[in-house]
This record gives sequence, structure tokens and C-alpha cells, in this order.
Amino acid sequence: MTTSRDFTDKVVLITGSSSGIGAVTAIEFARLGAQVVVTGRGKDRVSTVAKQCAEASPTGAKALEVVADVTNDDDCRRLVSDTIKTFKKLDILVNNAGRGLVSNIWDEDILDKYELIMNTNLRSVVWLTHLCVEHLEKTKGNIVNVSSIAALKPVGFINLYSMSKSALDMFTKCVALELGPKGIRANNINPGVVKTEAIIISRNVTKEKSDEIYVEMAKMCPMGRVGEPMDVVKAVLYLTSDVASFVTGSNFVVDGGAQCV
Ligand code: NDP
Repeated sequence: MTTSRDFTDKVVLITGSSSGIGAVTAIEFARLGAQVVVTGRGKDRVSTVAKQCAEASPTGAKALEVVADVTNDDDCRRLVSDTIKTFKKLDILVNNAGRGLVSNIWDEDILDKYELIMNTNLRSVVWLTHLCVEHLEKTKGNIVNVSSIAALKPVGFINLYSMSKSALDMFTKCVALELGPKGIRANNINPGVVKTEAIIISRNVTKEKSDEIYVEMAKMCPMGRVGEPMDVVKAVLYLTSDVASFVTGSNFVVDGGAQCV
């Protein structure tokens, strides 16, 4: 039984855990007693977060570090096999790695952008879920996919991102349908704007400019602020714990009410 505050000895694989929401998720799971897998493409960033996980862990448990690109099928296979080799099981898969990108339908390179966004935000999730199912079945584990509120209403200047997250939501629901009988739950979290590097990367802006964007976006949010990674992590902890034992195939919106505007 895992309550929302206790993940002792649970093995948790969080993609995109070298930064932002994923990094805070990994550290928080470690703090709550889990064995975590930290992964991303940059070795130094992965090591930094893994160290923070060990510091947060009540037993000083060492996180597994795996440098991997989720758009590379062999890297995903290695990510899962290293996890099982090290910890002998998998309880929770958090498909969090993802990226945004400004794209408009008239862009000359729209198909290149399509490949990048769909491979990162969707194809990788399909493949990793496929690879993890046999392990999650043994532990009656669960999956959380980090989507976006851009999945729930169209956003023109990030049309491909919006589409990829919408497809991700439907994939999660299909998987919940397929895996329910195996005792595996699968849910989406749909965050609104969260203060991470994502906006700097997706819009190719400076840190200063991203801060200005946050101020503007906060004005449009009923809660009067944009999200912090921990706002999303709390939802991850809820959905992956036994408190949510009858919750599967859901969209869990964490946006300070932005969607209602
Ligand atoms: P960050 O840019 O801070 O983190 C993204 C993470 O994904 C990094 O760890 C990055 O690692 C990893 N990543 C990206 N591409 C790849 C790849 N090809 N292979 C492996 N890892 C990869 O952004 P966030 O924390 O904000 O984003 C996390 C998730 O939340 C994403 O799915 C995003 O779409 C979603 N989201 C974010 C929102 C926001 O406002 N921040 C709003 C709604 C949803 P590295 O670059 O080192 O490989």
C-alpha cells in the first residue's frame, strides 16, 4: 500500500528527469523513499539531479543514472533494461520527457518539426510504455504521462505540440483500457504554464524574456500566477499512490484555472 506520502522501495522511472518538472519529481520520490531512475540526454545534468536524489533520500539511496535520448529506440531499450538490472523491478513509469516548439502551418520546415515533436512527445511514450508493460504487470504498477492543457484546446502557434499532447491523452486512455485488466493504471496530467526551461527552449527566448512571458501569463490565470514544478509533482504523487487506486484513464488538469478562462 502506498499512501500519497510513502513510496518506500517503489522503483520509479521518470523520463526527462534531468531538468524542470521531471527533476523535482525524481527528488520528491527519492525523499519519500523510492528508488529512482534519473535520465536525460546530458550526462552532467543527469548526475547533478541523481546527487540531489541521494541527498534527499532518507536512506541515502543512490539513484540510477542513465544518459539516453528517448527518440532513440535502442536508448529506450537500454533505459528499461538498466532499470530492471539494477532494481529488479519497476513500479511506476512517469513519461515526462517532452518539448515544445513554435510551429505554424506555413513553415517550410513543418515536416522536420513534425518529426521532432512527434518523436519526442509521442513515439517515445508509445515505445517506452510497450517496453515497461511486462514489468509493470508484475508489480501491478502504474503510468503517468505528462501532457499539457494545450492538449485540451487548440493553440495555433504551437500547433504540432498541441496535437502531440492531444494524441498522448488519447493514447493514455486507450492504454488504460488495455491495461486495466492487468492491474496497471495509466493517467495524464495536463499542466498549464510551469516555470521551467521549457518556454526558453520552445520559444527560443532569453531567461529575461521568459520571465516577462510568465508575468503576462499569470495575469490570464484565475490563481494569479503560473505554476511551479512542485504543483505538478503533487499531482504525480497523488496519481501514482494507492490514494488514486480507482483512478485510471483520467486527465488531471493542473493549471490554476487557466483552462476556464
Ligand atoms: P524542461 O525543458 O525543464 O525539461 C524537459 C526534460 O525532458 C529535460 O530533462 C530534457 O532533458 C528532457 N528531454 C527533452 N528531449 C529529450 C529527448 N529527446 N530525450 C531524452 N530526454 C529529453 O521542461 P519541463 O520540465 O517544463 O517539461 C516536462 C514536461 O512537461 C514536458 O513533457 C512538457 O511538454 C510538459 N509541460 C510543460 C509545461 C511548462 O509550462 N513548463 C506546460 C505543460 C506541459 P535533456 O534536454 O537533458 O535531454
